[in-house]
Order: sequence, then structure tokens, then C-alpha cells
Amino acid sequence: MDGKLAVIGLGSIGSMALWQASRLTDSVVGFEAHSPAHSRSAAGGDTRLFRMIYRGNPGYFPVLERSRELWAELEAETGQDILTRCGGLSIGTDSGTYLRSLFETTRATGGIHQILSREEMAIRYPQHNLRADDVAVYDPNAGALRTDRAITAAVSAAEANGATVNINTPIESITETDDGVVITSGASTWTFDRVIVASGAWSQQLMPDYLKAHTETKRIFLSWFVARDAEQFAPEKFPVFIRISGDRSMYGAPAMDGVTVKATLDGRGVSTPAADGVPRDLSTAEITETMETVSEFFPGLIPSIVRSDAFPDLFTSDSQPLMGFFGGTSRIYSATGYSGAGFKMASGYGEIAANEALGKRWWDGLDFLRPERFHAS
Ligand SMILES: Cc1cc2nc3c(=O)[nH]c(=O)nc-3n(C[C@H](O)[C@H](O)[C@H](O)COP(=O)(O)OP(=O)(O)OC[C@H]3O[C@@H](n4cnc5c(N)ncnc54)[C@H](O)[C@@H]3O)c2cc1C
Repeated sequence: MDGKLAVIGLGSIGSMALWQASRLTDSVVGFEAHSPAHSRSAAGGDTRLFRMIYRGNPGYFPVLERSRELWAELEAETGQDILTRCGGLSIGTDSGTYLRSLFETTRATGGIHQILSREEMAIRYPQHNLRADDVAVYDPNAGALRTDRAITAAVSAAEANGATVNINTPIESITETDDGVVITSGASTWTFDRVIVASGAWSQQLMPDYLKAHTETKRIFLSWFVARDAEQFAPEKFPVFIRISGDRSMYGAPAMDGVTVKATLDGRGVSTPAADGVPRDLSTAEITETMETVSEFFPGLIPSIVRSDAFPDLFTSDSQPLMGFFGGTSRIYSATGYSGAGFKMASGYGEIAANEALGKRWWDGLDFLRPERFHAS
């Protein structure tokens, strides 16, 4: 045995699982194909939105609440500024499907929020040019997560607790035996009692066939703009936002670097054949729609993309993650398939994965995330 637990992939979720496992055992080893938070992983592009007011399964709410606590713990433990608590806005057509489903979820979760009319928005957040029938919902607990800092802080915290980290070590195979799980990289072989697969968009090569059929890698792009008056788009004045107004949609974050504002078309993930080599350039159609949307939504931004990039993420056919032991195994735990929405809860997902993989604690209420939901289908 080379250890109790191996974590394969030290990206968004794997780094958090390693950190959490290092609190539970002194025998955890992380393996990363490149380096934690490398520039082509799903964590690329500096920031991710954190919010408690969202549409979708209310079952995420306890994970979000716990994640929020854990982001603060990670900050306290490492001295790093990870979550910029600038609040968040969800903007949409009054009585449109977006806000209706958001209110439905919020009614079920009880998440704290404040509804802002178009007139109130003009006073508090004049950066947004709302349509006549738009309404906003303010989420005081939302903010922007700094991805690179979060991942490197979690790995450092894990190492400080005694975890071992192997970088530039791509794991090529995982085999469960009666005694443990054998993993290989090149000529090297290790055996662990349990393994967590957290290899993001590259996970298909390490997952059983029944799950491959329910997953695909998608490319998601990001774009940034310069403000006419940078102060108006600073985190103190400009919360993270998601807006779905009629035919146009966009999400983004304030100028965390003091210069560039993230403003990106929402929901534009497209299938891509492989996680490596995701096309980084935006197509003409993507550029045109992005610039038109920014021109309408934000008169205070210069409608010219000054930076853009694209990154891979693993999507499942129902857009919910795969968290739990792979069907038929008792030792290989899946922490992947976060479907374009995983970072905000990465700290919570890491805690769940570490505890469940080590057999310390099992979470109720997460059946909708368990890989077995795809077993017979
Ligand atoms: C552009 C974009 C914007 C997004 N916006 C948001 C947002 O605002 N809010 C939000 O909550 N979520 C957002 N998401 C989703 C979120 O970022 C992802 O769901 C999350 O980062 C996925 O994390 P992961 O750990 O699965 O993958 P990754 O972070 O990519 O980590 C996987 C790691 O595994 C390593 N690896 C792969 N194969 C192997 C192997 N065989 N051996 C060893 N290591 C291996 C990789 O090198 C990588 O470091 C966004 C995603 C994208 C792409």
C-alpha cells in the first residue's frame, strides 16, 4: 500500500478534496498531470461566480452554504484573499422563465435576496442598462472567486497537513483489485486503499463505459472589456451578475485587476472532441453577439473585446455532477462532471468527496448527483 487515498487531478475539485482529506488522514497523495491551476484547466480565466440565489435543484443549497463557510476557512488557514464578497445580481424579464425558476428555487431554499425594480437599479447600479420589463434580484452573499489562488492555497494547506503532491504525473490507468486500487503513470505503479477521480474534462479515460456515454467535453469561452470609468466597475460598486433579458444573456464579474471587466455570453458551452486543444479563439459569430450584447447592456464599457479565452469542462447528460463510487466499485470515487457550474461549490464538493471516499461520513440528499442514476439507462 502506498497510502490510504489518492486524488487524481488537482484542479478545482481535486485540490479541495486533497485539502479536506489531509484533515482526515495523514496518508493522502495527489497526482496532477500538469500543475495545480494550470492555464488550460476548467479553472482558467481568473474568476468564477459564487452565488446562493440561483435556479435549479434546491438540493444544492446546503452544499453552497457549506462551501461558503469552507471558502472562509481556506482564507483563514492560508491568509489568501479568495472570495471577493461583492454581492451578485440576477437580472431578467419580469415574469420570464428565468426569474420564475429562480424564484421557485429561492422559495424552496429560503436564500436571502432583495428584489430591485428598474428604477432602484438605475440608482444603485447605473452600470446596467435595463430593458423596460427587466427586474433584478440582489444576492448579498454572492461574489467572485479567484480560482488560481483558491486551488494553490488548498494544495499548500494540504501539504502543510502532510499530504504528498506529485505534479507532472498523468495517471493512465486505474484498476480495482481485491486489496486496493492500482494506478499507473508511465513505468510507475502505486496501490491505494481508495481513489478519487477528479480529472475534470479528461475524466472519460478513467471512468467506466456506462458513464462515458452520458458525458461530453464542452468548450466554454470568456471575454473581457475595458470600462470608460474603471471606478464604476470596481468590486465595491459592481456585483457579479447574470442577466437573461429576452433573446440576450450575459454574465460577468467586476474589474478584479482594476482594469478588465468580465462580460461573457451565458450558456454557450459547445461540444469539443478533446479537453486538450480546445479552440481558444472566438468565432466571428461569438465576437459579434458578445459585442452587441455589451453595447446594449453596458454603455459604460468600451464594446471591444480586449481579452478572450476558452476552457474545457466535463458535462453530463443531465448537467448534474457525478459524485459517489463508480457503479460496481467500492473503492473508486467519482468527483467530476461539474457541467459548467462546479467552482462555486468546489470547497463543499471537496469535503463531500474526501469524507465519502474515506468512508468517514455519507451525505443524504445527494441522490441526484450519484453516478448510479445512469447505471441501467
Ligand atoms: C469558462 C468557464 C466559466 C465557468 N464559470 C463558472 C462560474 O462562474 N461559476 C461556477 O461555479 N462554475 C463555473 N464554471 C464551471 C467550473 O469552473 C468547473 O465546473 C470546474 O472548474 C470543474 O472542475 P474540475 O476539478 O472538474 O476540473 P479542472 O479544474 O479542470 O481539474 C481537473 C484537473 O485534473 C488534471 N488531470 C486530468 N487528467 C489527469 C490524469 N489522468 N492524471 C492526473 N491529473 C489529471 C487536469 O490537469 C486538471 O488540473 C465555468 C467553467 C468554465 C470552463
